[in-house]
Amino acid sequence: MALSRLVGTLIVAGVALAQSSHAATFTVTHVNSTAAQATAIEHAAEIWGGILESAVPIKVRVTFFPLGANALGITFPNGRRDFSGAPLPQTWYATALANSITGTELNTGESDIDIFLNITASWYTGTDGNPGAGEYDLVSVALHELGHGLGFVGLSKKMGNQGSLGTLQASDFAPLTTSFPWPQLDTLPGIFDRYLNDLQDGPLTMMANPGTVLGSAMTGHQIYFNGPLVMAANAGNAPRIYAPTTYALGSSCVHLNEATYPVGNPNELMTPFSSPGAANHWPGPLCIAMMQDIGWTLAPGVGFAENVETTEALQIWPIPTEDLLNINFGGGTRNGSGTITDAGGRVVLAFPRCGPISVAALEPGAYFVRLDETRVHARFIKQ
Ligand SMILES: [Zn+2]
Repeated sequence: MALSRLVGTLIVAGVALAQSSHAATFTVTHVNSTAAQATAIEHAAEIWGGILESAVPIKVRVTFFPLGANALGITFPNGRRDFSGAPLPQTWYATALANSITGTELNTGESDIDIFLNITASWYTGTDGNPGAGEYDLVSVALHELGHGLGFVGLSKKMGNQGSLGTLQASDFAPLTTSFPWPQLDTLPGIFDRYLNDLQDGPLTMMANPGTVLGSAMTGHQIYFNGPLVMAANAGNAPRIYAPTTYALGSSCVHLNEATYPVGNPNELMTPFSSPGAANHWPGPLCIAMMQDIGWTLAPGVGFAENVETTEALQIWPIPTEDLLNINFGGGTRNGSGTITDAGGRVVLAFPRCGPISVAALEPGAYFVRLDETRVHARFIKQ
């Protein structure tokens, strides 16, 4: 049976382990875990640490706790809004993201992320992605829950036919309690919510809050995440969000749609359900691009790089590359000339048009693709 991976919301010492070789480091506090479970969770943190950039260590508290028969895990990100340097006002950001954006620790003494994992589930604690048929892969589930804690999360709630953003209270998740003070959410959305768009009624954040139109949208099964970077990474299409006809607190509106991204799809990690015997140790291109949309900076050389200026998108792949680099501009509709520069801005190669080009002759290192007709650029790593 597939179990639900829930997320709580916004909301925050033991074994400390820092990985200095990563773009972001995590300090994980383990409660009620075995040594093998702790190792698997640290492995998941290291995966995120290689994807996202942050100068501020990310503080995570993981507690094994009885969650009932239907849940594997639930995550509560600590939150901040209207901090100095916040990209958008009146908007909640996970503290791990806010700290990354500002480069300073805004929540001294508080965790960034509280994760609860079901102590009664049958966990596979190996890090090789090879669970038994009846086992849940802990690295995969921890990777999923950390994704929520890092900001893949919204503040939606539905009571009766009234939908709301930013009215969640600690009591909604009793008996679980966060290690940090639950913020007064002030009926404000999270940055993730600002990209949620209902096909019929438009952006959720433009609807009366609380309200019945918002409530209908949350269970209308037609919500999409229209962030510009993820759309550029997805051939112009907004990824579909899980919004089933029966609202599920902690599951609806905070995951990719299960049926659109089933097991085996590269974007399966951030769907609401997890199957025993399955493993996935990479968030997938859509999730990673959504993390960029909400404000994260990617570590050098991660995945699919693009830089968007208004509606124009430059995409380059694979990253890193050893020989061929594909350059796609404007969804393939534009094919002008450009150059490749090194980190110092020196032109090391010129190309007559977009498409696949050979970079085999370049020394290993970081480079930028620049197009002549625009200041759009993208970064890649030559191995
Ligand atoms: Zn989840």
